[in-house]
This record gives sequence, C-alpha cells and structure tokens, in this order.
Amino acid sequence: MATASLSPVSPPLSLYIHVPWCVRKCPYCDFNSHAIRGDIPESAYLDALLEDLDHDLGFVRDRPIESVFVGGGTPSLMSGNFYHQLFKQLRQRLAFATDAEITLEANPGTLEAGRFDSFREAGINRLSIGVQSFQPEQLKALGRIHDESMAHQAITAARSAGFDNFNIDLMHGLPGQTSEHALADLREAIAHQPAHLSWYQLTIEPNTEFFSRPPDLPDDERLWDIFQQGGDLLRASGFTDYEVSAWSLAGSESRHNLNYWMFGDYLALGAGAHGKVSLTDGQIRRYWKTRQPDAYLQRIGSRTAGSEAIALDERPLEFMMNALRLKQGTTENLYSMRTGLPLSSVAVQLQQLRDKCLLTPDRIQATDQGQRYLNSLLEHFL
Ligand code: SF4
Repeated sequence: MATASLSPVSPPLSLYIHVPWCVRKCPYCDFNSHAIRGDIPESAYLDALLEDLDHDLGFVRDRPIESVFVGGGTPSLMSGNFYHQLFKQLRQRLAFATDAEITLEANPGTLEAGRFDSFREAGINRLSIGVQSFQPEQLKALGRIHDESMAHQAITAARSAGFDNFNIDLMHGLPGQTSEHALADLREAIAHQPAHLSWYQLTIEPNTEFFSRPPDLPDDERLWDIFQQGGDLLRASGFTDYEVSAWSLAGSESRHNLNYWMFGDYLALGAGAHGKVSLTDGQIRRYWKTRQPDAYLQRIGSRTAGSEAIALDERPLEFMMNALRLKQGTTENLYSMRTGLPLSSVAVQLQQLRDKCLLTPDRIQATDQGQRYLNSLLEHFL
C-alpha cells in the first residue's frame, strides 16, 4: 500500500455550481437534469445555494477562487438577476482571483433578448454554448429544443454581448451522422471563431431513453473517419487538442477543466454537485450534494448527501486518470504536490510504462501510443 510522506500542498480552488432544470430531458442525457414543471424557484434556490456554501466555507482556507463553472441542467434558464444576486453574495463570502474565469453553460432556445448582456453584467466572463450539431436531422434525433438557426443566433448574441471567450459544445458519432455532416458541423462552428471547442463523441449511458431504445449510430470505421478528418480540420484551423475532447486556440484552454484534470480542489454547490477538497490533516475528500432539486430546496442546513476520503492507495489512479487525459500531461513534481505521496509510490509503474514507450521519459505524459491505449495504461495504477 502507498504511504504518505507529506501533506498535499493546497491546490488551486475552483467552484462548481449546478442548476438542475431543463426545458425537457434529452434522450441521451444522464446528467442530474429535471424537466421544469411550472416556474423555476429562483429565489428559494439562491437561498439554498448560499446556505449550502456557508456550511462549506471551512474548505476554502484563505484560497482565492480561481474559476467558477455554472453547469447543468440548463443554467441559462435562470435570469440575469439571479446571477447578479448570486455573484454579489458569493463575493461577500469568497475572495475571487482578479482574473478568475467564470463560465456559464447556455443552451440555444432558452435565450430571451438581452439575457447574455445581463449575464455579463453579473460578472460571467465565459460562455459554453450547447449547440451539439447544426444539422436539422441530428438536432431532431438528439431531442434538442433548438434548431440550427437558434444555434447561430445564440452564438451571434454571445459575441454581441461582448463574450469573446466562448466555447461551443459539439457532438459527433450521432444517429445517422455521415463524415460530411460531422465536418459541416465543425466548419459552421469554426466560422464563428470560438476560442474553444468541446468536440466529444455521443456515448449511450444507462438510465437514458437511448439506452432503452438505442438509435442507429455510425460504425467504428465511420467513427474513425470522422475522428481523423475532424481532427485534421481543427488542427488546420489553429486548434490544439489539449485534452481528449477539448480543443482550443493557444491560451484559451478552459482553466476550470484544467484544474479538474490537474487534480485541483473544487467546491460543490447545488443539487447533485460533486466536490473535492484537500484538508490540512492530509486527507483528500470527495463529497456530493443532495440530488433531487425539491429535496435540495427543502433541506435545512448542510446539503451534503455523502462524502468519502480518497484512500492513499487510490490516489495514484485518481491522479493519473485525470492528468493523463491532458496531451501535455503533467510534471512528476505535481504528482507529489497533489496526492501527498512520494514519487517512489509510482516509480515502478512509471518505469514499466516508459519501457513500453507508453509514457514520455521526463513527464507524466502519455505518448501517442499511450493515448490510444489509455485504459490499459491506467490499469498499471490499479
Ligand atoms: S439540455 Fe443538457 S442537461 Fe438538459 S437534458 Fe439536454 S443534455 Fe441533459
């Protein structure tokens, strides 16, 4: 079993806030999202989030908040006033880094005129726009509430509101998708000049409508074509895949996601949110919040539904599962700083993987071959 020789150095601290409501449930979605019935209880949710945070302030330990991600669900269903109040109250309780990245997930089809302006006035400085596809037939198959013109309008409105730093979420491997469809999606997204593109493959998850009634998805050969041709197009357009599904222009990587992948700390707020914190006694704990929105709202006091320590012998795999998603990997030094374990706790595995040319010599970084066999590479740290 691995032994700790040092306390993890306090990692950078981020904040994740979950908004659990959507207009309706998409057939592929396994997130904690719930179709709205009636009005969203914005005021009660604001109170619940702040009460929830007050119970977790001990995790902060004088660290500034480096990034915030408001995810969902569909956070863009909430009003500008909700975010104005929320961030005003958060700033009274937490110190934000002067250059904190503050991202909000926005879905086309939920945006009244002027809503992006009010988000920006509330202090949000980055948007992640859930387009998924620009092709009418694919949007229909995915059960999205928007059509392609709404997708274009949302991106244009984001730009007009002053959001130069935005991400477009696109999926590939969609029902009935050809390589031409997938490349057309990428071309339309690139034409909007986003700073960041999340381009990820549709997977069928348990407890979804697609799991019960699987759609007709592209076979492996077509998926490989889409992956190869799409990657070539993105690279030729100036994007770099700094992570398995994350492409960005130089300097526009998602700082919030980088903190996850570099095994940083993050506070969790909101129904079903998950957090991870390093404590002064050397423990690293995961915790999660009450999942059902009604139960989250009605609960009094702490909304934490459960928590567990990441055991010493689980830390190497936990760290590697995150860090090796990054194309640049990380330094060996960061491994000790984040896990509190000496490098000797993984020295044998690192050497074996380097001997097989699956890791580069000087960093914790998968080679091209290592990236292709990432799952079996990670088994070395089980
Ligand atoms: S909009 Fe997003 S979070 Fe909501 S149901 Fe669809 S995929 Fe899930």
